Amino acid sequence: MNKNQTCPANHLKTNQKMVGLKIIFEYLKNTYPDPKTELHYSTDFQLMVAVILSAQSTDRQVNKVTEKLFKKIKKPNDVIKMWFEKFRNWIKSIWLFNNKAKNIWKLSQILSEKFKIPKTVEWLKKLPGIWEKSAKVIAHVLFDKLVIAVDTHVHRVVNRLWIVKTKNPEQTSKLLEKIVPNKYKVWAHHSLVLFGRYICIARKPKCEMCGLNKICKYYKKITKAAKLQGLQS
Ligand code: SF4
Repeated sequence: MNKNQTCPANHLKTNQKMVGLKIIFEYLKNTYPDPKTELHYSTDFQLMVAVILSAQSTDRQVNKVTEKLFKKIKKPNDVIKMWFEKFRNWIKSIWLFNNKAKNIWKLSQILSEKFKIPKTVEWLKKLPGIWEKSAKVIAHVLFDKLVIAVDTHVHRVVNRLWIVKTKNPEQTSKLLEKIVPNKYKVWAHHSLVLFGRYICIARKPKCEMCGLNKICKYYKKITKAAKLQGLQS
């Protein structure tokens, strides 16, 4: 792609985009030097279970449940040895626990017969309860795959920063993987999640303390609106 072509996000020129990405991802790297998932786990299988449980639930809710559960289940066979009803009962405080219990149960059967967790997003997606985003989280955390799982935090942050202009997390994920250089993908997902969770919060982003406020389109928009409101009142 030459200098005059537009990038796949096509609302900014490639060179502008690259400078913007560098500033954003270097800032995130400084802010979160070693970003990690906030889900608690000690085995690969536990990470998969925690990721399935975390769909539409917070990491805090999941960690509360798994704190005791993971003392009993470390591998797929541990789930199967437990009665299904008993297992479901363990996770009943989690949103959609019924479906999640069934999926984790089926997943445990598949993995116990052939205990090898697939390493690619495509193969992970074939397992029960694992959709695109979960597959990317698992592939990234367990196998260092250079993919960017996009949840609501990541979607919000990158749209506010004008890295992409997209309507949903699926579009955002595809586009980010095209335009973000691999060197940034190493920490992109986790740092964007943490940034969205604690600084660029949905309702009240902490813009005054954010090191990206000078380049943030959203911040420019809200400060301009606030000034106009001040003039009118
Ligand atoms: S300036 Fe505000 S809206 Fe923009 S990235 Fe920072 S926290 Fe988010």
